[in-house]
Amino acid sequence: MIGQRQPVQTGNLIGGERHEAASGRTFESRNPAHRSEVIGEFPQSSAADVDAAVAAAQRALAGWRATPWPRRGEIVLAAAQIMERSKEELAALMTREMGKVLTEARGDVQEAIDMGKFIAGEGRRAFGETVPSELRNKWAMTMRQPLGVVGCITPWNFPIAIPSWKIFPAVMAGNTVVFKPAEDTPACALRFVEILEEAGLPSGVVNVVFGDHEAGDAVVRHRGTVAIFFTGGAETGRLIAATCGQMLKKVSLELGGKNGIVVLDDADLELAVEGALWGAFGTAGQRCTASSRLIVSAGVLAQFTEDLVARTSALRIGDGLDDAVDVGPVINEMQLARIHGYTEIGAQEGADLLIGGEVARAGDLADGFFYTPTVFGGVAPTMRIAQEEIFGPTTAIIPVGSVDEAIAAANSTQFGLSLSIYTNDLRVAFRAINDLESGIVYVNAPTIGAEIQLPFGGTKNTGNGHREAGGRVLDEFSEPKSIYIDYSGRLQRAQIDTDAT
Ligand code: NAD
Repeated sequence: MIGQRQPVQTGNLIGGERHEAASGRTFESRNPAHRSEVIGEFPQSSAADVDAAVAAAQRALAGWRATPWPRRGEIVLAAAQIMERSKEELAALMTREMGKVLTEARGDVQEAIDMGKFIAGEGRRAFGETVPSELRNKWAMTMRQPLGVVGCITPWNFPIAIPSWKIFPAVMAGNTVVFKPAEDTPACALRFVEILEEAGLPSGVVNVVFGDHEAGDAVVRHRGTVAIFFTGGAETGRLIAATCGQMLKKVSLELGGKNGIVVLDDADLELAVEGALWGAFGTAGQRCTASSRLIVSAGVLAQFTEDLVARTSALRIGDGLDDAVDVGPVINEMQLARIHGYTEIGAQEGADLLIGGEVARAGDLADGFFYTPTVFGGVAPTMRIAQEEIFGPTTAIIPVGSVDEAIAAANSTQFGLSLSIYTNDLRVAFRAINDLESGIVYVNAPTIGAEIQLPFGGTKNTGNGHREAGGRVLDEFSEPKSIYIDYSGRLQRAQIDTDAT
């Protein structure tokens, strides 16, 4: 257990035991709001550690896949219930390690609780199909089978929710797991797995290797992992997909976004401004679904801009543990520099910097990675700040003159995760639902706020066609086996024999 302020020291969790990295190397996790605060020290893993983790997962596989589905469901449910009881502790740890404000950290934990409860039900509902055969006295049906040892590689921005989206359904379906969490949020990952252990998950079913891209790459390349479930950046996704393609390995990719809110002339403007503020600056803009483009119709452009800038100027930046704070730090120094780089790019491209655009260094803020919430106006859809994922508290107002232009602008990026429209015209709303090219569409709500009982994922370069969560999630984490039982007592040839009685 991680005490409130005690730095944690741990090894990798392999086969129920703690192991140092084979190399003996370690890395630190630090609080992005107070970089002097060390959250913990973790093993810097490499291929040798991944070998050990895969071997442990392989040893655990036979016993776990033979465990009845309802029993597996009970363990997942127990984990969700422990998380429910530990919600405050987990949220506080997350705020200290990742920086998001406490209210949002609680939401992150709640998402994992919801996912656990939802998936636990599959223990008694993991249906196969019974399908009519074309031949007499022949029975045809399907059942679900686990994939085997799967690799789960996660980012830092939802340090508990995203692991839960992968690991709960993976173990529910009878797989065993090698988990490589993000190097910026290892303590959250550790707590998540400790809770699984406490819930009664047998040793070796989930094994954790801490570390960076080297460990992640070793998980992907290992011949013992039969499928990779990855959430992270598009460039990393491309590399992983190439390796998995060569190895004929299943790979599910949840990648970046460049999400946009369309605001039309008939929109409820107050609602739209509030939505834009939450969508752009929630989690300091570090959501794959962040509203980083605001596509605003000419009739409301001036008012929308004025109101948004006024509301942005009132946002309070600081340590997310402080209830009065709206926007926490960004994750690390590299991201801070990258975000500021985009401010410079926007200015060079000729966009109007309306507010923000600075590293915040006043007082205590100098000890963390803080960036002032930033709004650009007069942005063209083709500009880099309207095309590339910034992953920080920066948003771009793109003026448009018609519904057609708005929808075209919304669709004009390589990504297709989440798009939204504010309008009170039912016909326009339904047209947008149909024409917006994204995995998720919101009407009169910002681009963030997914619920776990619906599929999550995107079109175009946001992924490779898979979806997480939702009612069909087990399709991703299991394989169907088709079974034919011929009780006719003679050879019956499908497609050849006619309907002989
Ligand atoms: P990242 O791609 O740098 O890292 C993600 C994970 O992959 C980390 O655990 C990292 O160590 C590992 N990794 C890095 N290089 C690797 C390699 N070559 N092989 C194997 N593993 C490797 O991403 P990040 O900075 O942690 O996260 C931010 C990105 O994640 C953003 O682009 C964001 O949009 C995306 N994201 C997407 C979703 C979604 O569901 N679509 C959700 C959250 C975040």
